[in-house]
Amino acid sequence: MFNNNIRSALLRLDGASYKAYKEIKGSYQVPNFTLIIDYVQGDPFASPSKFRVRIPQKIAQFPLQLYKSPSREIALRDYLTRQFHLVANQISLRRGTGKSGLIAISTPQQEVLARTSAFIDKNFLEVRFVVGLPAKGRRILGRQAAAMLCEDIPTIVEKALLYNSLDAQAIQEQVETVEDADWIRQELPNRNLTSFIPNGAVLPRRSGVDNRPLAENAIAFQSPPSLEVEFDCPNRGHIRGMGIPEGITLIVGGGYHGKSTLLQAIELGVYNQIPGDGRELVVTNPNAVKIRAEDGRSIAGVNISPFINHLPGGKSTTNFSTPNASGSTSQAANIIEALEANAQLLLIDEDTSATNFTIRDRRMQLLIAKEQEPITPFIDKVRQLYNDYGVSTILVMGGSGDYFEVAETVIAMNNYQPYEVTARAKAIAKNYPSNRHTEGGTTFGEITPRVPVKSSIDPSSHKKAVNLKARDLNNITFGTANIDVAAVEQIIDPDQLRAIAHALVYTTNHYLDRPITIPEILDLVMEDIAKQGLDILTDFTSGDLALFRRFEFAAALNRLRTLGIISEKS
Ligand code: ADP
Ligand code: MG
Repeated sequence: MFNNNIRSALLRLDGASYKAYKEIKGSYQVPNFTLIIDYVQGDPFASPSKFRVRIPQKIAQFPLQLYKSPSREIALRDYLTRQFHLVANQISLRRGTGKSGLIAISTPQQEVLARTSAFIDKNFLEVRFVVGLPAKGRRILGRQAAAMLCEDIPTIVEKALLYNSLDAQAIQEQVETVEDADWIRQELPNRNLTSFIPNGAVLPRRSGVDNRPLAENAIAFQSPPSLEVEFDCPNRGHIRGMGIPEGITLIVGGGYHGKSTLLQAIELGVYNQIPGDGRELVVTNPNAVKIRAEDGRSIAGVNISPFINHLPGGKSTTNFSTPNASGSTSQAANIIEALEANAQLLLIDEDTSATNFTIRDRRMQLLIAKEQEPITPFIDKVRQLYNDYGVSTILVMGGSGDYFEVAETVIAMNNYQPYEVTARAKAIAKNYPSNRHTEGGTTFGEITPRVPVKSSIDPSSHKKAVNLKARDLNNITFGTANIDVAAVEQIIDPDQLRAIAHALVYTTNHYLDRPITIPEILDLVMEDIAKQGLDILTDFTSGDLALFRRFEFAAALNRLRTLGIISEKS
């Protein structure tokens, strides 16, 4: 339409009403790359316009070895996203009203995730970003727009997306680190381990709101000799560190000695981190789920009977629903839902657990008879869970020694260093019996897959067929409902939450026409994404989606307050 000349088009639009920007949608051949404008914003304050650049490998020149394996490819795409972000931040200027002047891409934090912000193959490099097309009031600033599109974007391409402009060694380190981490993670089950923390790892973070490594006075991790294992990684060769065996592991130790910091590193070990993070080779079974109490959440038709029975008023616990769970019922539901989604490892911290869900000591057993206590505490189910379903648990517990009996491995954190104290804990358990009655029976109990009611998962609102918005890290607007995932700690990136929101809509469009269980839905959706990429979740090209796990997808669905469950699969 513009004879491919974007600059003269923009100059001609100078001073026109903002809506006229719509005309520039399309694809432009510029020297070295193709600029694609997929969507143009309606006004300067609206969500910014969606852009792509496609650079032929003839020009970008990334060596094949940097993206030859899936691990390397994801690492390289992440690296390119970060470089684009850095350069765009340096050069993008405010150029008028609203989002005028913005050039922005997804901003990865410490984790390396598969994202739709950048793609690479033998032929092309494609990068997706957003642009705030500049305006003064509601008038187009054509000259400024021309500077952004014809000077700034080519500068970013040149500085951030051409192999020869980049730090080859840093790229190499990133792809090799991610590949090694993926390799160790995949080796864990062969070694009967649930998690690996290498010697020298730096686990503490700068602050509660800054996930970069603690810069000063961080004590590097060193495995106790008895738990030390070695891996021979494809890139960096031999690496030693602490292997946490399958089964039941207790992390004990005084307050402020680093227990929760260790558990958090384990919890994030389901993802890869960038080199220099300090935890980049801390890896955990990818099916590990952090479990916590979450009073106030809604629960839909969950069989929590392994943990909760004979509630006051005869309320069902095999098909338990509430708009307002207690600490203990929420924690029970969080576990059962994780198991329904096929979790293999549960991670629990006393800091965020309901005490009455976790323990019930001898004295309390004597004062409150079992018949008056609906809760079977986790201590009486953790062993059955491992025996019946092969699900391991790592539990931080500084406040009660009652778990000594059921644990196979006890790790004490002392001054931020781990010690294995299993033998001592077992000897203490023998010499000072807790005298508890075990209350859990011989089996864990049944995990009942649920079948959602189609109409209960409805993305429409009275105004729109699909009303969807993922805000920050904690909330999804879905139809007329809000889904609060603030307590779902393993959602670590807003782009993951956005992708989860789209996956919910995708589910309603593709898989709810027949009765289907939640684990079946998870299998189908995750397989579609694995085969066809995150782009299948949206009907427009989007650069702001990141890969999520089935557990966090399930967690969002489970927190949809309208969710209804069919009692018996028909
Ligand atoms: P706990 O759960 O045992 O009470 P935390 O894990 O919360 O302790 O850690 C307490 C404090 O110590 C936190 O501020 C944390 O960042 C810091 N910390 C944890 N591990 C280390 C370490 N290896 N080196 C230095 N500081 C650490
Ligand atoms: Mg703690």
